[in-house]
This record gives sequence, C-alpha cells and structure tokens, in this order.
Amino acid sequence: MTTPRDLPSVEELLQTQAAAELIAQYGRSLTLSAIRDTLASIRAKFLSGQATVLPLRDLVLAQTSALLDGWTKPTLRTVINATGVILHTNLGRAPLSDAALRAMDIVGRGYSTLEYDLEKGARGSRLIHAEAVLQKLTGAESAVVVNNNASAVLLVLSALANRKRAIISRSQLVEIGGGFRIPDVMKQSGARLVEIGATNKVHLRDYEEVLLTPSALVLRAHRSNFKMVGFTAEPELKEVIALAHAAGAYFVDDLGSGALYDTAKYGLTHEPTVQESLAAGADIVCFSGDKLLGGPQAGIIIGRKALLDKVKKHPLARAVRADKTCLAGVAATLLHYLKDEAEREIPILKMMSLTPKQIQGRVAAWILELGQGEIVEGESTVGGGSLPGETFPTFLLSLTVESPERFLKQLRAQNPPVIARTDNDKVLLDPRTVLPEQEGALLVGLKNVLNS
Ligand SMILES: *Cc1c(COP(=O)(O)O)cnc(C)c1O
Repeated sequence: MTTPRDLPSVEELLQTQAAAELIAQYGRSLTLSAIRDTLASIRAKFLSGQATVLPLRDLVLAQTSALLDGWTKPTLRTVINATGVILHTNLGRAPLSDAALRAMDIVGRGYSTLEYDLEKGARGSRLIHAEAVLQKLTGAESAVVVNNNASAVLLVLSALANRKRAIISRSQLVEIGGGFRIPDVMKQSGARLVEIGATNKVHLRDYEEVLLTPSALVLRAHRSNFKMVGFTAEPELKEVIALAHAAGAYFVDDLGSGALYDTAKYGLTHEPTVQESLAAGADIVCFSGDKLLGGPQAGIIIGRKALLDKVKKHPLARAVRADKTCLAGVAATLLHYLKDEAEREIPILKMMSLTPKQIQGRVAAWILELGQGEIVEGESTVGGGSLPGETFPTFLLSLTVESPERFLKQLRAQNPPVIARTDNDKVLLDPRTVLPEQEGALLVGLKNVLNS
C-alpha cells in the first residue's frame, strides 16, 4: 500500500470478527471512534513521512484494540506495596478489614437505612450510624463522621469559631501534606486566627494572656508528621484545657491520626490517644478514619453533645457529609475495637504486630521460591504523616540487579504493579506491607522481571 487511500475503510474494518469482538467488549460507539482515531493517526504519520508503509487490516485493528484498552483501563489500580511504609499516603493509606469491606459491599449493592427509621417508617438521620459505637468506645456524648479529617476540622471551626477568635500555638501551625496547612484551614472557616508562643516553645502564660480577651476556642493540632527536639516546651494538655474553660473558651483537639490504642505496644513512641484527649477535658476531638485507626477515609468528630449539635446543624455539615459506604466501613472498623479483635482483624494493626522473626521467615520463603536474593535487616515505617522517624525492625529481600531503577520500573509494569525501593544499588522489598493474599502475585511479578 502506498497511499492512504489504500487503507481499509471504517466499514470494511467493522465487518471483521475482530471488530465484532471489540464492539462486544467496549460498545459500538466507542469502538467506532477508536477505529476512526486509529485510521487518522496512521494517515497523519504516513503523510508526515514518519511512516513509510501502511499497516494491513489486522494491524489496524490491533492498534484499535490497544487504543480502546488505554481509554478504558482504570487509572485507580490495586498495587502491591513492598515499601514497608504501612500507611503509604500515595498508595491509599489503610487497607480495610474483611468485615469493613463486607459492610461496604452490602450497603453499596442495595438500599439501606441510611436515612430511614425502621421503627417509625419515616425519615431518619445518617448521622446516627457510627455514633453509638463511637460513644461506647470513647465515652463521648456525641459523634459525627464526615468525609475526612481536614473537613472535620474545617466544619468544627466554622460551626464554633466563625468571626471569633481561635487560638493556636505557633508550634502547631502544621502543614498536613500536599500544601494543606492548618492556618489556612482555620482562615477558611472564618475564624480569627490568633497565634501564640514561639515555634519551639509555648508557655502556659501565653495561653493565660491571650485568653484575657474573649475567644471562642483553643485549638491543638497534633504535630503528626514532624518531630520537635532540643530547646522545646509545651504546657500539659490538662492545664491548657483548664485555662480555656476558665476563660469560657472551648478546647478542640485535632489529633490527626487518632489512635484508639497505645502505639508504644508496637515499640513506637506513644501517640496521643483519643481517650486521653477526652480524659484531659477536650470538648471536641477530631481524627482521621484512615490513619492509625485503619478504616476508610473519614473524619471523626466526637465530644460534647451541645457542641456537636451545632456542628451537625451547620450548612457545611451537608457539604462534607460521609457517604453510606464510608459510614458502613467506619462502623465495622470501630466494632473491631469494641470487640477487642482489632489486632486480629485490622490489616494495619496486623502489619504493626508482625515480629521480625515472622518477617524473616517470609523473606526466606521468597528467596527459596526465586532462587536468588539475600535477607538483610532493615526498617519499616508507619507513614501517612503519622509517627515521623519511628521505625519497626524488619527483614528485607535484597536483590542485586544490573540497574535498580530500571528494575523498579519493570516491577511497576507488572500486573498488579509492585512498588519497591532501592538503597545502595540494591532493590529492597519489605514483606511487612505485602498482604498475604498478594504474595503469589508478587513472586510471579518478581520472576517475570528477573527472567526478562
Ligand atoms: C492528617 C491530618 C489531618 C487531615 O486528615 P485527613 O483525614 O487526611 O483529611 C488534619 N490534622 C492533622 C493533625 C493530621 O495529622
């Protein structure tokens, strides 16, 4: 073929068995537009001299098929996380428990009592679903679940501090991630941000002085993702809360991770828990559903009923409300804690409680299967902007390859893609974050790349 006129026509291509199969898979109109785009791009390449021969019919259809595949392939794909970062923000933070997934599946598939009161046979409220479990777990008077913790903080401040003073220490003006900063969230709420103290030190007298002027609330934002060391000081939470209350201000605690358990149990620094904040007298505590809690993306607000009633009624509450699958997943995740089975059922807690010895055994089995690699000592991390600098001792599979960067790229091209890391010219894989059911696929992916 030497002129584009020799290319098969759209009609001719549509008559083929291959096109019929594409239509069955992708639908007629999408297939048609893929055929047209394919022909147009072949024509353009030929006319510009980029290509000197025109493809035959089968090849045109193969290109059409590849185009359709590219157009319809989901961009949100499951991957194997072999990085050892448990709450990897870029990889979707917490994997969910079976019970959470089942609960989400069931309400997603059908109709539900999302806003329906079975007793009355009338409209109910979506706000009740995770509330009872949260009350039982934490002892809080009231609770509400919203879309994420950033929106939880925004909502609370909007409902309680709009056009009023909200006080925060300069040592807590944190950037959460992706350029998202607590002071900006505070301003967005309409609160008048009042900063006190210095970056490294804030004293009780700073709070005392600022509270001489009437203020709506004092906010604490937990320094989730960085550590302050050296010449630093901060008053006891209890003392600050007592001062706030004496001055008629509320105390709102943005915990970020919101652990319901003591992270020291896993050899990590103690992360302030939800229960501790409430015990210290915080009026409202906000935390994430998908950080150390190990559930779906959500923002959880708990605290005093009178305040939560205001929060629930604020117009923003509608804008940041959680959907039915989120509510189902959060409730099911919380239930694991209530039933004292969190460590057995919640994937991130299982990962944290893996012993180095168990991990060593998995690396050894991988090496046996692959016929190569070494066991080396290493460190897993929590990630997700939680517990910065904290690590768990682990064992890693270390592979010596020609080009580590190319090897990582090839691993990412596997199905499912494998995300690993390199260090000192070695490719390193940490079993801690590889889900047991993904181990087979991981080994297939590794063999593909090792043998290529
Ligand atoms: C992570 C974090 C947030 C934001 O939570 P998302 O659930 O990611 O929206 C807010 N405040 C603090 C202190 C955090 O650590």
